[in-house]
Amino acid sequence: MPDGGSTRRRPLIAANWKMHKTRSQADAFCDVFLSGVGERGTADAEVVLCPPFTALSQVALRCAGTDVRVAAQNMHAEGEGAFTGEVSAAMLLDAGAWGVVLGHSERRQLFGETDAALAEKVPAALAAGLVPILCVGETEAERDGGETEGVMRRQLDADLERVEGGRLGELVIAYEPIWAIGTGRTATSEQAQEAIGFIRLLLAERDARSGEAVRILYGGSVKPANAAELTALPDVDGALVGGASLDPDDFLAIVEAAG
Ligand code: PEP
Repeated sequence: MPDGGSTRRRPLIAANWKMHKTRSQADAFCDVFLSGVGERGTADAEVVLCPPFTALSQVALRCAGTDVRVAAQNMHAEGEGAFTGEVSAAMLLDAGAWGVVLGHSERRQLFGETDAALAEKVPAALAAGLVPILCVGETEAERDGGETEGVMRRQLDADLERVEGGRLGELVIAYEPIWAIGTGRTATSEQAQEAIGFIRLLLAERDARSGEAVRILYGGSVKPANAAELTALPDVDGALVGGASLDPDDFLAIVEAAG
């Protein structure tokens, strides 16, 4: 939020567990992670765990009374109805969720998630009181073809079309170059800063205060060894972490590095 003319954005580190961890495995993670956070603190970072739906309420109960928040990995835009296999915002809130990851590239590429669907989901999440963590990013072919900015502009224009400019600052955006997800390849600091700075400019075109306030994360093979460098970049407000978030000690090290 604006503070004496400058904006201070609280870093946010999110753990995307994808389709990993049963409830007992999630519990074992929480035993180690929450006691580590209790002893060492999270520095200044806001920490979010994103378990699969089946472990959501369990992890939320474990995190109650701590500073650690919980988010889901997907939701349906409608409040309820004949949508077999889907989960609504109200159900996520009821399970203890603070936010929801939307538009992850695995959902876009493997499950046909479209920008049109996201244009419904993002405002529905916000209206319900969930913080959307919206993922955007280019493929390797798009980067090689010089289309990185065009892809981000297209995704953000479409996905945020129905969000009022003044509310854009409430969102979290994750820049996740698809070629860096789960591959061990990380964007260079220059690539991450350039892309995330561009996203901030795009949002500022819609609303200057929101552009300053919105938190934009980097995602793509973040590990304890590279977290400090990536999250220290001027426009990078934290990280969305996949593989390295499954191990509580590695995730703690990332939180500490980024705080
Ligand atoms: C992700 O799935 O959002 C992600 C960034 O994965 P990884 O850290 O494994 O690259």
